[in-house]
Amino acid sequence: MVVFEPLININKFDHFETMKTTEIQEMQRRVGTVPDGFWGPKSIAACRMHLRKLMPSLSPWPKSDQASMKAFYGVPGDEDNLVVLTFPFPMFYDGRRVLTTRCHRRVKDSLLRVLTAIGQKFGDDQVVMEEAEDYGGVFNFRNKKGGTTLSMHAWGAAIDLDADDNTFRDSWPMQADMPLEIMEEFAREGWISAGAFWGYDAMHFQATQ
Ligand SMILES: [Zn+2]
Repeated sequence: MVVFEPLININKFDHFETMKTTEIQEMQRRVGTVPDGFWGPKSIAACRMHLRKLMPSLSPWPKSDQASMKAFYGVPGDEDNLVVLTFPFPMFYDGRRVLTTRCHRRVKDSLLRVLTAIGQKFGDDQVVMEEAEDYGGVFNFRNKKGGTTLSMHAWGAAIDLDADDNTFRDSWPMQADMPLEIMEEFAREGWISAGAFWGYDAMHFQATQ
């Protein structure tokens, strides 16, 4: 008998629950603010500060305006700048296993270090790995969602994880699912986590200041 095992999203619908007070307090302690169980402006600011402190003092990345991006990463959509990255742990896209992706050559080593650190530190932590192994894409020559300027994906300098549960509509961390632990690992390499810095689009991480 073949037993069907779902590959990802075992707790697919748990993002419809709000975070428990104890979980908010745990995050508040982690980012160094008063654990009052209410994630408001103070917690948001403390969380950004917490991630900024983990970042290299001199950012290896350009600012996110189009001119700085072109100066550092070259012409957007230029596939000659892309290289193959082999994931350090199995990733999944719509339940299908994905072994490699293509990213900008200037972010490859850094992205590999981020993912390797996540696998090494949290490989046994199902809550973290469910998000980390849910691949949502790197290179995609397109504009920002709902915008007229290019997305960082147009250079292959951004990655999306668990796109289903971390959309524009899901505010982070109350609705979106992205664990702070993943954001911390991106921060150590100077990457920006959209959920923490913008409050939404928590799937998205980009190699910019
Ligand atoms: Zn993205």
